[in-house]
Amino acid sequence: MMNNDDRVVFFDIDGTLLDTSNFAETARKAAIGIMVDNGLPLDKDEAYGVLKTIIREKGSNYGKHFNVLTQVVLGHEDPMLVALGMTTYHNVKMALLRPFPETIDTLIYLKSQGYRLAVISNGITIKQWEKLIRLNINSFFDAVITSEEVGKEKPNKLIYDVALRKMNGNPEKSLMIGNKFKADALGAVNAGLGAILVNSDITEEDRAYIKKEKLDITIVDNIGDINTIL
Ligand SMILES: [Mg+2]
Repeated sequence: MMNNDDRVVFFDIDGTLLDTSNFAETARKAAIGIMVDNGLPLDKDEAYGVLKTIIREKGSNYGKHFNVLTQVVLGHEDPMLVALGMTTYHNVKMALLRPFPETIDTLIYLKSQGYRLAVISNGITIKQWEKLIRLNINSFFDAVITSEEVGKEKPNKLIYDVALRKMNGNPEKSLMIGNKFKADALGAVNAGLGAILVNSDITEEDRAYIKKEKLDITIVDNIGDINTIL
């Protein structure tokens, strides 16, 4: 009997399994609105601009954007405003959290084909599991490998190597599915895996590069098209 245990499909989460269009922006704007309504002394557009600068400087995975916002605007941290901002941000984000319409059917299909599934994500491990659990798709995945755990972000080869080792995957029979050309597709092929791009904003230049270098990267419109390839 053929042994298929070493075939692993790795997924990116945001923009791949999960529809994140305008997601963070909507949640941040709602948080700012509440903070301004409760005394943060700026108008909403100004406050949103300051917040965006803080996010750019600290990175999106930094956990204290609203703390810094009150420090910058007031000269000191305001715990009540920070808590209002954080709660609103979290609630709005959770309310908007949804898989793409074809995500669950595709995961069921891949399991039926004998693939084992895992996630490779640039982010915080507990937060990424939280997204899978809230989407009710956590049971499809055997592991979540993150940049927090590995210490390097996609497209660094190390995160792919660690993921393959953790899953006992054969790179030649495994692939990465993601929405970012560099992080997901180039990173994966550099580590010896194939790649499928979904919902990507890939440029003509990138397409020409894939062709010229004969890279094992397939481009499809969305996650529902995976079953035409695997
Ligand atoms: Mg993504």
